[in-house]
Amino acid sequence: MSRRILIAGNWKMNKTSAEGAALVKEIVAQMPAGSLPEILVCPPYLTIPAVVEAAKGSPICVGAENVHWAANGAFTGEVSTDMLKDAGVTHVIIGHSERRQYFGETDETVNKRTAAAVAAGLVAVVCVGETLEEREGNKTADVIDRQVRKAFEGISAADMAKIVIAYEPVWAIGTGKTATDDQAQEVHAQIRALLADLYGADVAEATRILYGGSMKPANAAGLLAQKDIDGGLIGGAALKAPDFIALIKAGMQA
Ligand code: PEP
Repeated sequence: MSRRILIAGNWKMNKTSAEGAALVKEIVAQMPAGSLPEILVCPPYLTIPAVVEAAKGSPICVGAENVHWAANGAFTGEVSTDMLKDAGVTHVIIGHSERRQYFGETDETVNKRTAAAVAAGLVAVVCVGETLEEREGNKTADVIDRQVRKAFEGISAADMAKIVIAYEPVWAIGTGKTATDDQAQEVHAQIRALLADLYGADVAEATRILYGGSMKPANAAGLLAQKDIDGGLIGGAALKAPDFIALIKAGMQA
């Protein structure tokens, strides 16, 4: 498989600047030798400069957890793509289920943020996933289809080089419940088939699709062995260096 595995940490609203820098230094100190996956940590906005500084000279990229679509202006509390790039950010998570659930994020705003991110040259890690109710109502395929189509409306095949998709079943995020390898692979295969429909086989084959939802050292190998799973977006287990290192190692073996 030619897609490079991506091991990405979503720190959510955790770690001060000092704690974030210390975590990165601990990860760097334990970094295994050999051919590494792509490694990303996404800390809260305010702590980004400290984390970027700590990651300097290491293989760790730093991302943000959200971005606004406007270049600047009267958007109190928001942060633009230029501000992120100025701070040393290369990637940005968009449409995380917690933003959809608690902060009014919609398919439309996910699309706007995604378009702004790729136009600015950032890698957009675009999250999709069904709720428990939707899964139990056999709506998973429809929800994923809608979320993917809407997220990438107006995004060109060339822009897709700057897109990573994260499939995160909402019922598995922070709950300790993981999708089984087969459940995850089934949705990843659906997403890849949809990308083939929308953009053709080459884009579909090249686009990385991460799994997220209680990924941890104990279940990573099985998930990462699936044909269409190209890495992980990891919450809880990204906050402890030994766990994150174990996930990086799992990525090296996938
Ligand atoms: C996430 O925040 O994207 C996530 C998957 O969290 P956790 O790994 O804690 O379920």
